[in-house]
Amino acid sequence: MLELNIQMFAVPARKVSKTRQRTRRAHSAMDAPTVVKCPKCGAEIKPHRVCKECGYYKGKEVVSKDAE
Ligand SMILES: [Zn+2]
Repeated sequence: MLELNIQMFAVPARKVSKTRQRTRRAHSAMDAPTVVKCPKCGAEIKPHRVCKECGYYKGKEVVSKDAE
């Protein structure tokens, strides 16, 4: 918490100025999830996770996809 002077508890909406409300929400934006391509099958996957499509991680099959 860098802004120590900001009120963090509930306050009636009309008592919060536009600037204060926008300042508070300046850190609230979500960003798009990071996606990388599976080196095995090329599917888009989250980094550091087993590929859902082919079951590979770090060049080895760690989850069998044959039984489905
Ligand atoms: Zn894959």
